[in-house]
Amino acid sequence: MTIPLRDFRAILGDAHILTGDAVTGRDAGYCAEALDAGVILRPGDARELADICTLARSRGIALVPQGGLTGLVDGTASHEGQAILSFERMTTIERIDPVQGIAVVGAGVTLAALQEALEPHGLVCGVDIAARGSCTIGGMVSTNAGGARVLRYGMMRQNVAGLEVVLADGTILDMTSPLIKNNAGYDLKQMFIGSEGTLGLVTKIVLKLWPAPKGTACALVACTGEEALGALFAHMRDGLGSGLSAFEAMWRDYYALTTARPGYGTPPLPTTHPVYAIVEASAADDEDAREALVAALSTAEGPATDAVVARSESERRTIWRAREDSDAVEQGYAANLSYDIGLELADIGPFVADIGARLDARFPGVPAYLFGHVGDGNLHVMLGLSDAQHAARGGFDDLVYDTVARYPHSTVSAEHGIGLEKRDYLDRSITPEMLAVMRTLKGALDPATILNPGKVFCTGRGEF
Ligand SMILES: Cc1cc2nc3c(=O)[nH]c(=O)nc-3n(C[C@H](O)[C@H](O)[C@H](O)COP(=O)(O)OP(=O)(O)OC[C@H]3O[C@@H](n4cnc5c(N)ncnc54)[C@H](O)[C@@H]3O)c2cc1C
Repeated sequence: MTIPLRDFRAILGDAHILTGDAVTGRDAGYCAEALDAGVILRPGDARELADICTLARSRGIALVPQGGLTGLVDGTASHEGQAILSFERMTTIERIDPVQGIAVVGAGVTLAALQEALEPHGLVCGVDIAARGSCTIGGMVSTNAGGARVLRYGMMRQNVAGLEVVLADGTILDMTSPLIKNNAGYDLKQMFIGSEGTLGLVTKIVLKLWPAPKGTACALVACTGEEALGALFAHMRDGLGSGLSAFEAMWRDYYALTTARPGYGTPPLPTTHPVYAIVEASAADDEDAREALVAALSTAEGPATDAVVARSESERRTIWRAREDSDAVEQGYAANLSYDIGLELADIGPFVADIGARLDARFPGVPAYLFGHVGDGNLHVMLGLSDAQHAARGGFDDLVYDTVARYPHSTVSAEHGIGLEKRDYLDRSITPEMLAVMRTLKGALDPATILNPGKVFCTGRGEF
C-alpha cells in the first residue's frame, strides 16, 4: 500500500508529515516496532485529524495513533503501508477551572506538564504513573491508565469528565460537557476510554481534578503471608477510611533485589519476611497523616509482624524506591518478561503459590519477582530470563495466563491494556459473547478497519 503523501500534504502542509530520517531518528519508546510505518502525520486539531481520517478511509490506509510511546503492550506497533498519527501538536492546556475542579487539555499534553500547571492551583490529576515525563493524557485515556493511587482516585475512567473524539469516518464527537449529572442517553465517552485507539481518536480531554493532598505519611509493614496481607489491607482501610491513599505490596525476592541495588543503603526492614506492604495515608497535614497511620498500625498486630513509619521525605522516598525500582529485575538478567494481572483479593495467596509451583515444575530455576498495586487486586509478575528463554516466550506466556485463567474473576490485563502482546490471551478474561459485542462495536464505528488494526483482537485486515 503506498501512502498518498501528496494528498496528506494538502491537509497538513509539508512541515507536519515526517518521513525518512525524521522518523528513524526518533526514539521508538517501549515498542520496538513503533516507527516501522516510516510516515508520521501530525495534525494540529480535531478538524485536521477528521480530514486525515476521511482520506485514509477512502484509500484504505490504516492509522496507528501514538502518544508518548510508554505503553507496555505493543499497542503502538506499526508496519509499512500504515501511517502513524502523532498528537504532539495538541499540547495546549486550554483551561484550568479550580472552582469546578476540571482541566481541559489537548491529547498530546504530557502528564508531567499538566502536573506542573496544576501545582500553583493546589490541584492534582488523580492518576499518577512513573512514566509521567513522557506519557500523554490522550494515551492515558486510551489505555485507561491506573497506577498507585487508584484506591483513592480511581483509574482514568473515573477521572475523565469529557472527551472530544474523531471517528474513523471523520465525524467529530464533542462530548466535552463537564456536567457531573448528565443522563442524556448513553455515556458514549466511556466506550473510548481504554479502547487503545481502535474505536476513535482522542483529541481533547476534560479531566476531573482533586485537591492536592496537604499531608501524607507512609509506612513499610512486614506480613507473614498473603492472608495477613489481606487482613492488614482490610484493617488499614477500616482505620484510615478515605485517608488510605495507597496499599502496595512486594514479595521477599523483589524487596531483597531492589534494596540490594547500589546506593540504596540499609533496607528499612530486614529482607527475611515473606511479604511487605507500603501503606500511605493522606490528611490535612503531614502530622495528622502520620498520627492516623500510627494509630491504625498500632492495632494491626495480628497481620503485621514488623513496621517502620517514614519520619522524613527522604525516608518516604527510600520506602517507595524499593517498590518502584523494577529496573532492578531488568538490569539483573539478560532478558525479562513482565505481566500485569488482576485477581480478587482472596485469590492472591492461592495464585502466588500456584504460579510458583507451576514455574518450578516447568521452568525450574526461573526466578519470579512479585509486586503490585495489591489494594486493587493488581499484581505484577516479572520473570528473570536468559535471551534463549526469552526467545521462546510463548511457553512462559501460556503458563502465566493459563494460571490466571484458573481464577474465575481474573484478568490478563489489570492496567496496561491488550495491544498486540496479550491479544492471543484476551479470551482468558472475557466471554465469547463479550468478544462478539466488541467486534460489533468495532465493525459499526470502523467498518474499513483503519484505526489501529490488529490491536486488542484480530479483525482480519492489515494486521501483524
Ligand atoms: C516506567 C513506566 C511506568 C508505568 N507505570 C504504569 C502504571 O503504573 N499504570 C499504568 O496503567 N500504566 C503504566 N505504564 C504504561 C504506560 O505509561 C501507560 O499505558 C500510558 O497510559 C501510555 O501513555 P502514552 O501516551 O505513552 O501512550 P502510547 O504508549 O503512545 O499509546 C498507548 C495506546 O494508546 C493509543 N493512543 C495513544 N494516544 C492516543 C490518542 N490520542 N487517541 C487514541 N489512541 C491513542 C495507542 O495507539 C496505544 O494503543 C508505565 C509505563 C512505564 C514506561
